[in-house]
Amino acid sequence: MNWISEWALPKIKTLFGSREVPENLWHKCPECEQMIFQTDLDKNLRVCPHCGHHMRLSARQRLDATFDEGWQKIELPKAPADPLRFRDQRRYSERLRDAQAKSGMDDAVVVGHGTVEGQRAVVATFEFAFMAGSMGAGVGEALVTAARLAVLQDAPLIVFASSGGARMQEGAVSLMQMPRTVIATQMVKDAGLPFIVVLCDPTTGGVTASFAMLGDIQIAEPGALIGFAGARVIEQTVREVLPEGFQRAEYLLEHGILDMVVKRGEMKETLGRLIRLLRDSEGEPVPAAA
Ligand SMILES: [Zn+2]
Repeated sequence: MNWISEWALPKIKTLFGSREVPENLWHKCPECEQMIFQTDLDKNLRVCPHCGHHMRLSARQRLDATFDEGWQKIELPKAPADPLRFRDQRRYSERLRDAQAKSGMDDAVVVGHGTVEGQRAVVATFEFAFMAGSMGAGVGEALVTAARLAVLQDAPLIVFASSGGARMQEGAVSLMQMPRTVIATQMVKDAGLPFIVVLCDPTTGGVTASFAMLGDIQIAEPGALIGFAGARVIEQTVREVLPEGFQRAEYLLEHGILDMVVKRGEMKETLGRLIRLLRDSEGEPVPAAA
């Protein structure tokens, strides 16, 4: 406790009457430790204006930044909640309800359709704040729905992944989402439609080990942590010191795992260009060379 929280804050709160004084008007960049005004940070798509560090973006902000105006969120089918009646310190059903109440979302993925730089697209994005973006039946259902919609609308599928991996509270059911999402994205490819993955910080575990590494184009945001197992586990297993930048987007690009690392401010334009390249001006698939 210092004089600000003990004395100044209560004074300010009295001054402003019953109105809440937002305590998070400023945000400290975890990279360069500069203070940034929240509104400026949001305007800059949560990229630090001082050092370019990419902070996490909410699913809603992500979709707004990717689509042109007038995109629509789609209703997702309900997945069976808590199929194993799982409980650790708390019931899974309670954790799920909490996450839903806090986020206003049913599960960790939001799907929308609209246009990206004037071209039809279906975009699915993970919300890391929802139980670490973990993949259970709900997330699997969302990705299957997104893939079906892409095929139905003859539109490319773009997925922004950000996930801690499988949702352990759903046990084997969560693991089954790995083949399920792979099949879903295969449907998009079979229809001759582009499937583009953007790996955001962090993408790990069962999500990296399934559909998230199968994009026709693999993009990542700068500095994103991407991997299967954690660096510490790997270090202990192989008993070697891992190279600097291990499991970071730039390192993976250098080693051929990614096609491109794209700054958030240039993401929409890049996606638009890729869709144009992969399809002709009418939005039709580019015919294969004879
Ligand atoms: Zn910074």
